[in-house]
Amino acid sequence: ERLGVALVGLGYYSTDLLAPALQLTKNCYLAGIVTGTPAKAETWKKKYNIPDKNIYSYDTFDQIANNPDIDVVYVVLPPSMHREYVVRAAKAGKHVWCEKPMAPTVKDCEAMIKACADNKQSLAIGYRCQHDPNTQAFMKLAKEKTLGKVKLITCAAGYNEGRVGHWKLNKALGGGVMGDMGVYAIQGARLAAGEEPMLVTAQHINNRPELFKEVDETTLYQFHFPSGAIANCTSSFGINTNFLKVNYEKGFLHMDPFSAYKGNKGTYTNGEINFPLDNQQAKQMDEDATSIMQKQPMLAPGEEGMRDIRIVESIYEAARTGKAVKI
Ligand code: NAD
Repeated sequence: ERLGVALVGLGYYSTDLLAPALQLTKNCYLAGIVTGTPAKAETWKKKYNIPDKNIYSYDTFDQIANNPDIDVVYVVLPPSMHREYVVRAAKAGKHVWCEKPMAPTVKDCEAMIKACADNKQSLAIGYRCQHDPNTQAFMKLAKEKTLGKVKLITCAAGYNEGRVGHWKLNKALGGGVMGDMGVYAIQGARLAAGEEPMLVTAQHINNRPELFKEVDETTLYQFHFPSGAIANCTSSFGINTNFLKVNYEKGFLHMDPFSAYKGNKGTYTNGEINFPLDNQQAKQMDEDATSIMQKQPMLAPGEEGMRDIRIVESIYEAARTGKAVKI
């Protein structure tokens, strides 16, 4: 038995990554779509053989409650819209997958977690990297203290975002580099440390004020961990970068890239990390579908998404006040 997935929001990530991955999954398949654009509905219907009864607009979305073909609703909208659609999906009695970042605020995350719990539905965040064996390998180095304690983490994730009018440049829609991309380097630091940061300092740098009028373009931030480990991170909408470095008591790790769709790899004191992976998103969705079918906890549940959003809020506060902020 396979779970039927409905994608909500047919933008770049749904079109280029998730729908193709759902052609490779074994435990779930693309059963339905939710879109505000009738032309997209037409194209997707033909391309993926989606029956009319499984095609919804944002207005008819709640009727999905009566559709037994749909087991999971996957919310792939701009971040400011995640809360509304996660809550509506949970109320419709569907399990929910929600793209990163979970939402703009911790308050939103709490409401999303509560709605899923109240309606007895699973909630997973689209943290594809946590399903990648290359990520799991560096998590293991921290957990097993293979090279001793973690001392210093350096992590950066960014690309050149310059699309005028895009939601990533719009504060109200959940844009800003920390609001959108920020969770990658935060995840890199947290997962490589194997513990949670307790103190953060942060700085914004805006090299293109004409473009980044209301949101951050590049943000630098530093974490202090309870063990004494420290992290120095960069999230950027202006710099193409993707790496993670860790200095341990007795060695090093260097992943480059560490959070790409494919090809994550690295070297460390004792050898290489380079696990093959056919399709990261397919693995993510298959594993999350299995967890639902077996009534197991999700690998990256809402609580995990919320941890990062709490840190994002602290980073914005630290950058605004110039002070160290306790998390
Ligand atoms: P996108 O702009 O390409 O697509 C957004 C979709 O939302 C579009 O179909 C658009 O029509 C729809 N939409 C509905 N109401 C809208 C409104 N008021 N304003 C703007 N768009 C509206 O964005 P995307 O890159 O596909 O990102 C969607 C989500 O997926 C975001 O949360 C993003 O962070 C996430 N994402 C995740 C990954 C990943 O690797 N996990 C990669 C890319 C994007």
